[in-house]
Amino acid sequence: MGDESMRQTTTRVACRNCGFEAPTGSDEWETAAHPSHGTLTRCPDCGSTNTTGR
Ligand SMILES: [Zn+2]
Repeated sequence: MGDESMRQTTTRVACRNCGFEAPTGSDEWETAAHPSHGTLTRCPDCGSTNTTGR
């Protein structure tokens, strides 16, 4: 176990539609329930669920 793995790595997610960007799990993101995929991240700006990152 190294200290390097303790560093906070905030993964960011970006909207492919409008370019909105926020950390994963941020309150800025909205969520949309999907029948087969579960909860999706949805862009609060344009409402798209086409996001990149994880
Ligand atoms: Zn967007």
